[in-house]
Amino acid sequence: MTAYDYDLFVIGVGSGGVRAARMSAAYGARVATAEEKFMGGTCVNVGCVPKKLFVYASHFSEEYEQAQGFGWDAATPDFDWQTLLENKNAEIKRLNGIYKGLLDNAGVTHYDGRARIVDAHHIEISGEIVSTERILIATGGWPVVPDFPGNENVITSNEAFFLEDLPKRALVVGGGYIAVEFAGIFHGLGVQTTLSYRRELFLRGFDIDIRQTVSDELTKKGIHLAYETNVERIEKREDGTLLVHFTTGHTCETDLVLYATGRIPAVHDIGLENVNVEQRDNGAIIIDEEFRTSEPNIFALGDVTDRLQLTPVAIEEAMCFASSQFLGERRVMDYDNVATAVFCQPNVGTVGLTEEQAREVCSAIDIYRSSFRPMKHTLSGSEERFMMKIIVDRETDKVLGVHMVGSEAGEIIQGIAIAMKMGVTKTQFDATVGIHPTTAEEFVTMREAVSV
Ligand code: NDP
Repeated sequence: MTAYDYDLFVIGVGSGGVRAARMSAAYGARVATAEEKFMGGTCVNVGCVPKKLFVYASHFSEEYEQAQGFGWDAATPDFDWQTLLENKNAEIKRLNGIYKGLLDNAGVTHYDGRARIVDAHHIEISGEIVSTERILIATGGWPVVPDFPGNENVITSNEAFFLEDLPKRALVVGGGYIAVEFAGIFHGLGVQTTLSYRRELFLRGFDIDIRQTVSDELTKKGIHLAYETNVERIEKREDGTLLVHFTTGHTCETDLVLYATGRIPAVHDIGLENVNVEQRDNGAIIIDEEFRTSEPNIFALGDVTDRLQLTPVAIEEAMCFASSQFLGERRVMDYDNVATAVFCQPNVGTVGLTEEQAREVCSAIDIYRSSFRPMKHTLSGSEERFMMKIIVDRETDKVLGVHMVGSEAGEIIQGIAIAMKMGVTKTQFDATVGIHPTTAEEFVTMREAVSV
């Protein structure tokens, strides 16, 4: 028993914080948590979970349309935003309760309120001071809107999950995960949607064939993509509509502007000025491979460290942290081959190196690529195309990257990520018998490298 009230105090109960608290408690630590906003953090409340529910909702419009080719009568379905919102809110409330239950059942003491670090061993929450041997900062991130005239008229993804009414027209600004996902959500729900991105092609950092395919498919669906365009200022008119002035000289009249231009580490007002915790310019907390900051008993993980801003990464980091600190088994997080999905429509799934990255590390690579109209669309009438791509090190035959744009790409790539983790070769892909008829079988039947 130490002289401290707790062995570990976790600030923030998002995906990483809750997992670290639960596992540390399971390994015998006396743990407390604090949270000012919502139980479950970004993922549960204003991220992955409600976003995926909205993606499901938005996809029905296409399904209704495509059903006619399969013999269903043409329907003019009515969409009710309030129903979706209420059902989504009820589900999130249920999940908030589950997260609270997880902490309670693990024997974690939870404080509702803002926690501030007083010194390396003391935390203040609503006037109460508690002592702790270790502190874990898991406060996540927060959307950031750049400075420009009229930026008070825009919303971020935080607010998009609680809109009172669905707008008729929307402008989405940005070219990352959130922008392309929300452009698809709005469009699918019947909103006339424009996406503006400051460079020539969105989803920077993803494989070039993913970027080009998604761009083509969103355009085909009717989303207006405005590349090499940025917002200069926004005017709000008396009737509430917004007039957006772009750097190109063009204007756009819209009812809603959603900014999805990145998220910054949430480090404001948590008492970092009272300790010696080094940060990067954007506030990200600098940590070593044990998640330790420059203050030896203060740790950080998840989005607040601004490495891979993904829920499963924060969870795995938390598992490594708890195991190393309280189980006596040192575990180091492996950031290689982390698979990810973008829930635009069609979905993106990706694992490993992009073609560009592979060319940098390998003297010779082979590219296997297939672009095709999926079987369903032979009757659905849709012109949608899928893209699948494998990148192979010619010398070792090792698969370096696998990329897909197509329905359920995330589900398919998750399985392939296991093979990648095991160091799969192209010969092993080829020796795998496909499941027919599926989209995924394409990954084990691509025999001819494309000439590049
Ligand atoms: P991203 O960092 O992915 O993308 C930000 C986008 O905004 C980029 O296209 C960037 O352009 C652009 N941008 C940045 N600053 C400006 C500016 N001042 N003016 C105009 N455009 C700007 O951020 P997101 O907000 O989309 O998402 C945040 C993180 O959340 C992601 O990195 C991801 O890790 C995570 N996330 C994961 C999801 C998933 O797993 N499916 C879903 C949603 C989010 P440029 O390319 O030029 O830098």
